[in-house]
Amino acid sequence: MATTNPNPPTSQCAVCKVPTSKHCKRCAEGVDVDGALAQTFYCSITCQTADFPTHKAVCRSANDRKQLYRGGELLQKVFYAFREVAFDLEICDIKKTGNDIHFYDPATGLKKGPLFPFPNNDSLTTDDKHAILTFSACGDGLAYMHELIEKVMEGIGSTTQPLTEIITNMKGTKRTVWHHGLNGVSHNNQTITHQFLQAQLKNGERYAIDMSGAQYGLYSAVAPMQKYLDQHIDLRRFSIRAFGEAKEDIKKLVDPSLAKPGFDQRMCVMHILAAQAMNSAVEMWESTGHSVVALLKDTRANFEIGTEALVEAVTMRVDGHIKYLQTREADMWEVVKVPKAPGKGTHNSDIPVLVADAAEATDVDPAATAKEQWAKGPGDMIHSLVSQFEGANITCYSADGQGGVVRFDVH
Ligand SMILES: [Zn+2]
Ligand SMILES: [Zn+2]
Repeated sequence: MATTNPNPPTSQCAVCKVPTSKHCKRCAEGVDVDGALAQTFYCSITCQTADFPTHKAVCRSANDRKQLYRGGELLQKVFYAFREVAFDLEICDIKKTGNDIHFYDPATGLKKGPLFPFPNNDSLTTDDKHAILTFSACGDGLAYMHELIEKVMEGIGSTTQPLTEIITNMKGTKRTVWHHGLNGVSHNNQTITHQFLQAQLKNGERYAIDMSGAQYGLYSAVAPMQKYLDQHIDLRRFSIRAFGEAKEDIKKLVDPSLAKPGFDQRMCVMHILAAQAMNSAVEMWESTGHSVVALLKDTRANFEIGTEALVEAVTMRVDGHIKYLQTREADMWEVVKVPKAPGKGTHNSDIPVLVADAAEATDVDPAATAKEQWAKGPGDMIHSLVSQFEGANITCYSADGQGGVVRFDVH
């Protein structure tokens, strides 16, 4: 009944089949299950009124899908920006063979980190860049984007089931990304598990929201779930868990009592701090009269302008925060012995953890409570960091108003 014909916008009246260019204004930018424009045309108010009992549900579904597709697009753009400024791989060389991308670790001894500049390179297309940014980062996407995902899904307001996380292996995808290590060991994204979200609209339709599919050559953040399953999922490895489990995984990684010998927590800690900066940027952006929820419902033009502004706000804030932390790099970490957990393993582990002073600003005194917390030592520090990751207890400040975070307070 609803006819897709965006250009020129003429079609048949959904009721009497007379050619017309007029369509329902409420779903003027509504989309079908694949995200394509799906307007419903009427020659007259009479035909529109007659069709309303049927069209009501069609209209709402078209708008719900529009918001879901836009929500996925917005999340993916913010995630790419976040990954680029908080990039965690030290890449010395990149080669392309057909659709595949190969990247190489640098010579021994260069590694400092925990974060590295993204290896911008003229031979990389935007898709190539996104493939590298999302390589092995699917869990990060779900964990660090958690708050923004919640905000977007609340905005759609039509899910009848809670979001779920899918863990699976991919198959039959167009692209493979290879990581070649110094020791001659290579691995690629076809052999590691992939994670993405499943959402369900009020009309029962299910969708995959995959912010990190670019590494497999899947660049659209949203796709009908069944189609995704049929085309790209290896059902021999497939499990579903609650939304939030990927974030729990990260918390475990920075919990000293669960530390694995030799595991360097610094990258996770930096990402946690970067995610706080991202959430802070979104909050600040919204406090100036913008709204993520409203963006998803706005005109396409306004959605694009707003999304670009949000991405820029996040980029500046996260980049500024990381640069600030890196100026304190020398004082930021200390190596602590983590005693073995009872009954687990046989040896202690030396791991670098964030030290108290690293969180203090250079130009202001942190809150007294913060000093107390830091003073409790690295273990408590990490626990406190994890609790702050819930979003309630930490505030990042930009003294210059330019997005460079110079201080964060613990309340
Ligand atoms: Zn008609
Ligand atoms: Zn409509």
